[in-house]
Amino acid sequence: MSDLFYENGLHFECTQCSKCCRHETGYVFLSYNDLDRLLDFFSISKDIFVEKYCRIVDMGGHKRLSLIEKTNYDCIFWSNGVCEIYKARPLQCRSYPFWKPFLADRESWNAEAESCPGMNHGSIRDKAEIKEWLRQRDLEEYISL
Ligand code: SF4
Ligand code: SF4
Repeated sequence: MSDLFYENGLHFECTQCSKCCRHETGYVFLSYNDLDRLLDFFSISKDIFVEKYCRIVDMGGHKRLSLIEKTNYDCIFWSNGVCEIYKARPLQCRSYPFWKPFLADRESWNAEAESCPGMNHGSIRDKAEIKEWLRQRDLEEYISL
């Protein structure tokens, strides 16, 4: 029998409070699929997109591409209360909060829930959905420079 703490699913419903998109510095790493989707969305070239919206992050050994932030630490694409690229937003954003570190155990999940009011509230996301997010993140190839 599985001993996953989310065997019976987890409550999550985004309240659209925007905390995960604003006010704090952080990285939104882009995969090759993310970048392709965003280039389609904006209909611009890779060079222009990277120059306008991205920064290179040294991970020690390799480098990754992340979205930039505004001077107030809002994500570059957060504007007037919405994500301007919602339909094309990166997998990192779409899969939140079903990220491996937060799914390690109940304590990790509850610790993250202190900064996300949608966690432990609202409808149940079943184990299959949670595992599907984990699977997608595992398979996703992130841009390495
Ligand atoms: S912090 Fe949680 S509830 Fe708030 S916008 Fe992000 S995912 Fe939604
Ligand atoms: S891309 Fe959109 S969903 Fe992701 S952090 Fe920026 S504003 Fe939020």
